[in-house]
Amino acid sequence: MKMSRNYPEDKPSKHGTVRIPKDLVNAIEEFLRTDQAKKMGFLYITDIVTEGVREFLRNLGYYPTRRRFEHYNAYEDRISIIDNDAPKGKEWVDIWFTGDQAFCDRCEESECEHIGFIIQSPELIDPLKEHGWSVKDGKIVRR
Ligand SMILES: [Zn+2]
Repeated sequence: MKMSRNYPEDKPSKHGTVRIPKDLVNAIEEFLRTDQAKKMGFLYITDIVTEGVREFLRNLGYYPTRRRFEHYNAYEDRISIIDNDAPKGKEWVDIWFTGDQAFCDRCEESECEHIGFIIQSPELIDPLKEHGWSVKDGKIVRR
């Protein structure tokens, strides 16, 4: 019988291992228990460490800056975008246009960076304006 292998041995690992101080681990675990962490899509210690280090290096110019948000698709009642800084499996964010104002299902808010991205993207906001929406105080509201 031939065994199939998902990960060939010669494939380089995409992860490295580091040790971090216990007090940092404790602080991260405390944050992970909050609703804010869940809302932001963080589940594991690795998510926080990765986000923190990436941000640190990016600010110093040692990590490539890429577009954080990408427009993925527009539907009748929502726009789906990809948040490249969100933890793996949580990249997709839906902004709904079913009420009086746009609503982000990730942040559970009508004013957030995801909605801000839509406001700043002419290819997204212009069609919305043609369909009776307008921008007011950082929100997208039905006229
Ligand atoms: Zn949001």
